[in-house]
Amino acid sequence: MITRSTPLSKILEIGKPCNRCGHCCRFNSGFMIEEDIDRIAEFLKMDKDLFIKTHLTEHELFHTKVFKPIMIKGDKPYGQCIFFDKVEGCKIHEVKPLFCRITNCFAYSQDLIAWFYLNYLVNPDDPESIRQYASYLESGGKLIPGGHLHELVPDKEKLNKILNYELL
Ligand code: SF4
Ligand code: SF4
Repeated sequence: MITRSTPLSKILEIGKPCNRCGHCCRFNSGFMIEEDIDRIAEFLKMDKDLFIKTHLTEHELFHTKVFKPIMIKGDKPYGQCIFFDKVEGCKIHEVKPLFCRITNCFAYSQDLIAWFYLNYLVNPDDPESIRQYASYLESGGKLIPGGHLHELVPDKEKLNKILNYELL
């Protein structure tokens, strides 16, 4: 069972199976955390700022800034990841983002994504992050053990204040 505190080594094992068909990379791109950016920029022998400017787009999820590789969309609302090549597959496979290494399309896909959210994007010290996570749960977002609101903010009074916008 995947929980919020499942160690990364275990998550990497669970997320590893992938037949590299490239289907997911044709329609989306993975989140990139800071350490991914440094590693991939180095792999491509590019200056970090230039790499960000030319290959990534900035997003915000759970009130946390996060990057994603540019998607080549054309006139569609989705598109293939800038690192995807029809013949080669992922052009940065050896150093691909953690999100791409730990998520796949198999049985635990939603749990793995929820684990990533909880460990990298949901910030228990940021009331707005907690409120946005609460909305995600209310709208049917995947909940894994350790990811209940009261587990992220054990102080009941504080949690109520956050949810009632008394703590901004
Ligand atoms: S970085 Fe690689 S694995 Fe991740 S979405 Fe892009 S092509 Fe796919
Ligand atoms: S995660 Fe699934 S869809 Fe994506 S490349 Fe691997 S097997 Fe294909």
